[in-house]
Amino acid sequence: MSNTLHIVGGGMAGSEAAWQAANAGLDVVIHEMRPKVETFAHHTGKLAEMVCSNSFRSDDHEQNAVGLLHWEMRQANSIIMAAADQHRLPAGGALAVDREPFSAQITDTLRGLDNVTIVEEEVDHLPGEGNWLFTTGPLTSPTLGEAIAHETGADRLAFFDAIAPIVYADTIDMDVVWAQSRYDKGETEDERKAYLNCPMTKDQYEAFIDALLAADKTEFHEGETATYFDGCLPIEVMAERGRETLRHGPMKPVGLTNAHKPDEKAYAVVQLRRDNALGTLFNMVGFQTKMKYGAQTEVFRMIPGLENASFARLGGIHRNTFMNSPTLLDGEMRLRTRPNIRFAGQVTGVEGYVESAAMGLLAARYAIAELTGATLPPVPATTAMGALVTHISGGAEAKTFQPMNVNFGLFPPVDLKGGRKNRPARYKAYTDRAKADWQAWLSAFDTEPA
Ligand SMILES: Cc1cc2nc3c(=O)[nH]c(=O)nc-3n(C[C@H](O)[C@H](O)[C@H](O)COP(=O)(O)OP(=O)(O)OC[C@H]3O[C@@H](n4cnc5c(N)ncnc54)[C@H](O)[C@@H]3O)c2cc1C
Repeated sequence: MSNTLHIVGGGMAGSEAAWQAANAGLDVVIHEMRPKVETFAHHTGKLAEMVCSNSFRSDDHEQNAVGLLHWEMRQANSIIMAAADQHRLPAGGALAVDREPFSAQITDTLRGLDNVTIVEEEVDHLPGEGNWLFTTGPLTSPTLGEAIAHETGADRLAFFDAIAPIVYADTIDMDVVWAQSRYDKGETEDERKAYLNCPMTKDQYEAFIDALLAADKTEFHEGETATYFDGCLPIEVMAERGRETLRHGPMKPVGLTNAHKPDEKAYAVVQLRRDNALGTLFNMVGFQTKMKYGAQTEVFRMIPGLENASFARLGGIHRNTFMNSPTLLDGEMRLRTRPNIRFAGQVTGVEGYVESAAMGLLAARYAIAELTGATLPPVPATTAMGALVTHISGGAEAKTFQPMNVNFGLFPPVDLKGGRKNRPARYKAYTDRAKADWQAWLSAFDTEPA
């Protein structure tokens, strides 16, 4: 078997993967289409360009899931984290990065390695031979997008995300909300209780519509077009079409009986549906939105039962090419139909610079093990890396799959001894467990025969 790993796309995921693979002694070819072919968001021909904000978000590795991901990547000799640390800007608890020297350093480092070749070209197909890792990101070139859709089926590749907010289950007030599927549909008790329902009176509904209409919204980026389908219109656009539109759409109250107040008929109902196999996350059905994040939190906490909700992620609609990874990728991020091809980064349905780089790191580790004949145990789902890859490769609901940031809702619950149940103690328990498991996994990697 050839020891060359071809990486398509030198963004966050591709640059990290190239570094990991080159360090393990593989020959690496990075195929990057920029600057020959441009995207609407990238402005340079450099590798690992940060296309928008310059933040890697929280660096708190004890209390925050993305901070934990930073920590795990640093332990694994990540080039993205090393460059971010070197070009860190003051930003309180967040890791903000001086973007130009950051990507210049990564470009120069990778260019300087004898076993890395950078080819400026657009790859437009999925090769049948060789070892390939595709990390072409949210702005995968249209020709390649078509080739991926041809391989996977057009319905398994999306060109826009239409993200409904996701709520942590343990922050929903179950004294107000009840579990019931519309018209009690379903073969099993689980199916008949698949949805959580938040009831609204007429006054609450009217106030909610007023708040929706008044809320600040984000505009589409230049080069993006608002060609969303009628099936996934933002809720505020529905509200603009008429005050009753939502009550006849995602908020219709029919087929539901309030288990707490069976005699009271709700005027409108917001439904939440389970979003992961663990049952720790619920998405707000049909609630995709372009409201600004601050406005979303305020408006959604007006919904009865969600007054104290914490959001694992807020809603959005963006230009974003991503695949239905739960049905297409195996646990080692290989395309099930073509195991010589791996995918990583945002095109697999993770979201954000750090998550994308992290998945590049992991995919490279699996590719290294495969090409050097080593066996690598599955990455523990208790780590931030493992929680993310488990989510995209099968833990998420495939039918409603939308891009996801790392968050504690993706982790298997911790068993807290001695009744320590407050949130900081729980998060610390998650991160302690993750760190121990990640280090054990990394050392298994180091000691495997090459
Ligand atoms: C407009 C916009 C704003 C964003 N803002 C943020 C933000 O503020 N914070 C954040 O965390 N995330 C943001 N994101 C998401 C961000 O793009 C990802 O977090 C991150 O860049 C994804 O890393 P990646 O490696 O998967 O893709 P990228 O970093 O985009 O890298 C993919 C690379 O593949 C190349 N490529 C594409 N197709 C081909 C092809 N056929 N052949 C060869 N090369 C190809 C591209 O040129 C690119 O260099 C934003 C995305 C967009 C589109």
